[in-house]
Amino acid sequence: MEKLISCCGLNCASCDARIATVKNDDELRKAVADKWRVAYNVPGLSYEMINCTGCREEGVKFSHCDECEIRNCVKAKGFNTCGDCQEMQTCSIVAAVHKYVPEAITNLQSLN
Ligand code: SF4
Ligand code: SF4
Repeated sequence: MEKLISCCGLNCASCDARIATVKNDDELRKAVADKWRVAYNVPGLSYEMINCTGCREEGVKFSHCDECEIRNCVKAKGFNTCGDCQEMQTCSIVAAVHKYVPEAITNLQSLN
C-alpha cells in the first residue's frame, strides 16, 4: 500500500476516512462515523463529516485534521513533518499521538 505519512507520522493511506473519501463510499463513511463517535467521544459526528484526502495531500480535510495543532505547528515552522523537527524527542504535543501509535515514529524516520 502506498504510504501517505501525515505531519505526526500516521499513515493516511490506511485511514478509513481517506479510503471512504477516495471511493466516495457512504457505507464506509457510516462505519467510520459509528466507530469514531464512540472511540473519540464525539456524539455529534455524522457520516457526512467523514471526508479527508490526507493530512499533507491537496483537498478536503476531516474537521479535526484541519484544526490539528501538530499540523499547524509543522506548517508554521516550514517543515514537511515532525520528523524534520529537532524538538520531536521532547515535544509533548506530538508525544500525545506517538504514545498511542508508536509506529508513527517509524513512519517519520522512514521519510529521512
Ligand atoms: S489527516 Fe485525514 S486521512 Fe490522515 S489520519 Fe487524519 S482523517 Fe485520516
Ligand atoms: S514542535 Fe512538536 S508538533 Fe511542532 S513540528 Fe516540532 S515535533 Fe512537531
